[in-house]
Amino acid sequence: MSDISDTLHDPKPPRHGEPPLVVAPESRLFATRASRFAELETRFVDMAPFLAFNAHLARAQHRTLKDQAGPTFAAQSFQVALEHGFPPLAPSALLETLTWREDLDALRQTLDAALAADGERFAAQRHLLSQLESLPEETLDSIVGAIIGQQGVPAQARAVAPLVGAALQVSWTRQAHALAARLTRPQGAAQGLCPCCGMPPVASIVQLGRHRSRVRYLVCGLCATQWYLERTRCSHCFDAEKLDYIGAEGPDGKRALPIRAESCGACHASVKLMDREWEADTDPFADDIATLGLDMLLEEQGYVRAGFNPLLAFAGEPT
Ligand SMILES: [Zn+2]
Ligand SMILES: [Zn+2]
Repeated sequence: MSDISDTLHDPKPPRHGEPPLVVAPESRLFATRASRFAELETRFVDMAPFLAFNAHLARAQHRTLKDQAGPTFAAQSFQVALEHGFPPLAPSALLETLTWREDLDALRQTLDAALAADGERFAAQRHLLSQLESLPEETLDSIVGAIIGQQGVPAQARAVAPLVGAALQVSWTRQAHALAARLTRPQGAAQGLCPCCGMPPVASIVQLGRHRSRVRYLVCGLCATQWYLERTRCSHCFDAEKLDYIGAEGPDGKRALPIRAESCGACHASVKLMDREWEADTDPFADDIATLGLDMLLEEQGYVRAGFNPLLAFAGEPT
């Protein structure tokens, strides 16, 4: 198999010193996220068990990403999509090709061993893992369809859906790692969707560091690719006139995390914005979960959550 990163054509490489338009997920992405969950666990005592579980889950994602090989593709497999400006890792095209079932199996086993080693604290979650193992194939497929289609997950499957979402993240991140840096930012109506897989962002992040200091990127909820979008524009409808930034203050008038939601008066969508200048270790997935209170505030104010986080299962129609 040829190496994708060597052979793909990059339509517009950034000039020296300019921020990159697309940033591939880092290889230690899930390990870094696990550390962030563990840190947030000490700051959000009320949510500590949930955050601790997510730290275990992110560690298991890291192990699965490292230990499982995944399929390899020749560069030309993606060439047609790239030439026509389509996201090459669109889930609708790759669900039968990527090895997410194997990743889910490996993730479940790794996570179960880690939870067992943590005593009785996670007995309920271990029960969930055994349910997942015996889930009928068609139920698993319907959970995946609901996650990818961003529909609510059926009530009886809601508890296991984040585990399935975590496995999908591993499978797509593995491919995006080799591919994303070769892409350019999406255009037109697609500029709010991941150039690599076409899914929406979990949140946006204002970066620090050489070449990209103070630059805003959207972060894909599925494959964690980052892509540039001007800070002054709504990441959902791209309106530049009616943006507001809303944060949730606690009873002491301070925010537990310095996170605001970019909220748009034109389309009423709301996406969280994390700023590395205020909180250098912020992780869009972990910090999104730790600030679910902000989502409730936004809903009360008439905004619709637009962030896509497969580690959260939102309610669907009961079936
Ligand atoms: Zn993506
Ligand atoms: Zn908007």
